Amino acid sequence: MHRRRRTRIIATLGPASSTFEMIKKLSEAGADVFRLNMSHGTHAEASNLYSTVREVEKETGRPIGILADLQGPKLRVGAFAAEKILLEKGQQFVLDMDGAPGDEARVELPHPEIYQAVEPKTELLLNDGKIRLLIDKVEESKITTTVQVGGELSDRKGVNVPSAILPLAALTEKDKKDLNFALGLGVDWVALSFVQRSKDLVEARDIIKGRAAIMAKIEKPSAVHAIDEIIALSDGVMVARGDMGVELPMEMVPAKQKKIIRHARRAGIPAVVATQMLESMISAPVPTRAEVSDVANAVFDGADAIMLSAESAAGEYPEEAVAAMNRIAKSIEDEPSYRRQLSKDIATPEATTADAISAAAKQVATTIEAQAIVTYTGSGSTALRASRERPETPLLVLSPNIGTARRLAMVWGLNCVYSQDAVNFQDMIDKACNICYEYGYAKVNERIVIMAGMPFGTPGKTNVLRISRVQDYHINI
Ligand code: PGA
Ligand code: MN
Repeated sequence: MHRRRRTRIIATLGPASSTFEMIKKLSEAGADVFRLNMSHGTHAEASNLYSTVREVEKETGRPIGILADLQGPKLRVGAFAAEKILLEKGQQFVLDMDGAPGDEARVELPHPEIYQAVEPKTELLLNDGKIRLLIDKVEESKITTTVQVGGELSDRKGVNVPSAILPLAALTEKDKKDLNFALGLGVDWVALSFVQRSKDLVEARDIIKGRAAIMAKIEKPSAVHAIDEIIALSDGVMVARGDMGVELPMEMVPAKQKKIIRHARRAGIPAVVATQMLESMISAPVPTRAEVSDVANAVFDGADAIMLSAESAAGEYPEEAVAAMNRIAKSIEDEPSYRRQLSKDIATPEATTADAISAAAKQVATTIEAQAIVTYTGSGSTALRASRERPETPLLVLSPNIGTARRLAMVWGLNCVYSQDAVNFQDMIDKACNICYEYGYAKVNERIVIMAGMPFGTPGKTNVLRISRVQDYHINI
């Protein structure tokens, strides 16, 4: 039986979710895509997680997407002798290029670019913006600051410099190594962190060469400004609220979330909402009411996918967190107001046969109360256009390309089945009817709508819209 939920769930894997049993539980509880966070863990660990997900996929029979999230040019302090220190408001604190372990007075900041790009009065934000330092003095490899807001600081915490434009490339040396490794594993998606401009995507595309779909993480103010150019060169976008809430005033994040989702939906690429969605579930079996509301609102915004980070990677209740997202998304999707909200933002079809047929399929399916819309797709592009229409009728995607089926696990409403391409018109009908019956979408005598391209196997050729009725003989194909 396939899922009726349309919004997809991404679960980050980590120490709390590394065994076959746990990953299977998360998949059964509702996770559609698993995320490997390349900021943490070794290649051997990532490789184990990758193959374990593939084993789970084999057992469940449902194509699962795997997303490798590259750390990007994230600035971090070095390590401390005591692992963590406490910074007091008003004290001096020094950042330098000295690799020795840090203490209450200083720590390493191993990014030479920063020392040139900042000046006195520039603010440095540490540990997700919890700690604020104001720069007093900048030397060649030493920055002296006064603590404005203090707090605990531990090994390798992040540093943000929202007001300066740093001359950093989108892919660091570590990213290039991680990327090569992840592509070698066979990941379906690669996420790029701290994208600043569309040029960053061009560089990544040159290296990835179609081996994985590319997701741009929107977390820099400059990326929000250039959102349409970035979307044009990306296969998906992520509203990365963690760093975005440090780089921009936090209260601006909700409106940016809505804007990014709207623009991605117009372009027909998936939009993911990420970070702190069920944060309290790291250590509690139930979410707060505010978190439930946040997840619900991301669903109302029309997001393709909602993401768990530490909740599933390092928390005490990974399965409960996925189950909570599943329940929230389903409950919202059942609301008539969700439908109304969703239809307000559906972009008009573009002048292509794929869009014309997708729009028509949706309308025909509604009129005749068809049980499913079945899309044959090789590259996935037709399925993306069908999803962009946000039909009320369930969408079933048949693809002879397992990579396509896995990538599409990220996309609103697409239920993918890995299946051979149709060989002729009758076979197209029979396969679609059989799979709809087998997966519980339609019973004998019920109708389905089929979209396909003829001649079969030619990409970008969607030109057929067919209404078919499931017949007795379809059951046993
Ligand atoms: P990260 O990305 O967890 O890799 O930093 C997500 C975010 O910034 O929200
Ligand atoms: Mn981030």
